[in-house]
Amino acid sequence: MKIGLEVHVALPTKSKLFCSCSMDDAEPNTNICPICTGFPGSKPMLNSAAAESGFSIANALHCKINRNMSFVRKVYFYPDLPKCYQITQMGGAVGSEGYLDIQGKRIGIRRVQIEEDPAQIVRDGMLTLLDFNRSGTPLVEIVTEPDITDEGELRSFIANLRSILYYLGVDINREIKADLNISISDVRVEVKNVTGIKSLIEAARYEIARQHRVLEEGKAIAKETRGYNEKRRITESLREKETDEEYGYVYEPDLTVFDISGMKPAEPVYANEIAEQLAEDSDVNAKTIREMTMLDRHALELIVRFRPKYKMRSIIHAIQRFKKYGKAEVPPPQVIEKLIRLVEDGKEVTKETVASFEEGKDVSIEYAKLGAVQLDKLIKRFLDENPRMVAEYKKRSKTINLIIGRIAKENGLHPKEVAGRVTRLLAGY
Ligand SMILES: [Zn+2]
Repeated sequence: MKIGLEVHVALPTKSKLFCSCSMDDAEPNTNICPICTGFPGSKPMLNSAAAESGFSIANALHCKINRNMSFVRKVYFYPDLPKCYQITQMGGAVGSEGYLDIQGKRIGIRRVQIEEDPAQIVRDGMLTLLDFNRSGTPLVEIVTEPDITDEGELRSFIANLRSILYYLGVDINREIKADLNISISDVRVEVKNVTGIKSLIEAARYEIARQHRVLEEGKAIAKETRGYNEKRRITESLREKETDEEYGYVYEPDLTVFDISGMKPAEPVYANEIAEQLAEDSDVNAKTIREMTMLDRHALELIVRFRPKYKMRSIIHAIQRFKKYGKAEVPPPQVIEKLIRLVEDGKEVTKETVASFEEGKDVSIEYAKLGAVQLDKLIKRFLDENPRMVAEYKKRSKTINLIIGRIAKENGLHPKEVAGRVTRLLAGY
């Protein structure tokens, strides 16, 4: 089985790809101009922020960079494209012949190209409406080789790609749109316009099973383009597959050649590979570190920062606790370090501890100052409230461990801190 992907990613620019219209959310058809509505005579101007972003993505995917990139017009008619062509890239694409390493496998990247999104078609009962706010949105299309061979690889590819894009400042959680090319025999079926990561996996799963079923029934798989029906979670035939030759591609003369030699791509971060390195000689496996860092640059920074001083397990645990209980969006390193120390001392990290650390109070010092009187009070209260455990202790002395454990846990203390006093006080019961 072979799966190839064409992933469309919206770039996080302030303005559109070929005009200065805003990319902010707005009332339909308000962020528009003659360029992005395709008026005759309007001339596109390339947004250099979009070019730089596309360059950074191609660079992160180890592509050969086309320093003199150019654009083509992909000519076809559809209501969302009144100028009758979409401006995209082919031979002059920003990147080609790259790759992305997923766990244990290299997936080829055929091409990374910059292109514009057409307008949005909105269906409202009997009406078909057009919103041109979306027209001219800068997209990058990432075309893979058909190197993905099962669902696990598909998931891993998407997760890794998403992580690389996240670290480049492009979050594809909502925006990801992809076409899937799936063949289990020698016939390639295209599944168009699948939106969202979950749908992508489901569409692939359904289509693979469907093709197997067709072959089992002794029929031939049709070479066609299918759509994914999100509600019914199935793929449906749309039309016979068109080929590139059926589109009229012509050189885009209004944009000419665009030299990106002066641009510097953003430094890529491969969280996947960093996790592998961090896991070496540590008490935590790469998978755990990956899960925490692939889409969280703050967690990655904290792990890298504290790794030389503390156990990986303690660092991970402290960050997890902070994520659960902390208020700040970006975990302050000083707070995390205090939490790590608490974990290394074998103490429980409670919601209260995190809150007081965030407020700047040092709980570990407070515990140290707790003093014998207060500690005795805590223990006595517990023993008074749990006469059954005391009675059990009188019969079986081993029960003391259970009592110590409970008192330590309930008060965020280390068992060692309470053990001596518990033994002494139990004698009086
Ligand atoms: Zn515009």
